[in-house]
Amino acid sequence: MQDKKCEERAELVARLKSQGIVKSREVERALLSVPRHEFVWPSTRRCAYEDTPLPLGQTGQTISAVHMVAIMDELLQLRPGLKVLEVGTGSGYHAATVAEIVAPLSQPPESWGHVYTLEIVEELFEFATSNLERTGYSSRVSVIMRDGSLGYPEAAPYDRVLVTAAAPSIPPPLVEQMSVGGIIVIPLGGEHFFQELVVGVKTESGKLKTSEKGGVAFVPLRGAYGW
Ligand code: SAH
Repeated sequence: MQDKKCEERAELVARLKSQGIVKSREVERALLSVPRHEFVWPSTRRCAYEDTPLPLGQTGQTISAVHMVAIMDELLQLRPGLKVLEVGTGSGYHAATVAEIVAPLSQPPESWGHVYTLEIVEELFEFATSNLERTGYSSRVSVIMRDGSLGYPEAAPYDRVLVTAAAPSIPPPLVEQMSVGGIIVIPLGGEHFFQELVVGVKTESGKLKTSEKGGVAFVPLRGAYGW
């Protein structure tokens, strides 16, 4: 069973690599390491290695497709030691892939970065917390229940910010909580339509230099700076 899942995962990652979506060794290793079948909703487990978003129970939320996780992780230019904020924990899967890169078990814990991930839906906060504990990520990922559009100033500044729900515009608190040179990846656009994936780099002036990376479809960001 476990071997079969491993095989399916390896096939999917190899396909994403041949399509040029997985580019770096780090993202490849992360996707090969994180057992997505432990993060999907139990009723969808047999589809865990299909490259598609899957519903998270009756919550109306979804775990992102693996290619979308790969695209965002590549754009974030992750490396060991970075402190990362994720808005939209969902299943905890994406946070685990980031933790694999910023806090690899092959390196001593003193050199690890950390992932802080924020979730507004209590059922998903609990689901993700238990998934991350069971799979061995809880010392590298902190799950916090709150409105992530306001960020998490307690652990700021962040080297990277990852938003996995679509926002009308970039929430100012997230920019404030980034370090200079830090990178944010966020889908921007309509609540019910396709959105644009945007990458922003924080400059010395405190402003973001942004570029657009193509059309995407995410669930809407809620909260103070959401829809
Ligand atoms: N990254 C997730 C998928 C996220 S789906 C994964 O790997 O599974 C988007 C998530 O954002 C949903 O769980 C939704 O509840 C959450 N969300 C929406 N608005 C939010 C907000 N203001 N703060 C925190 N989480 C939010």
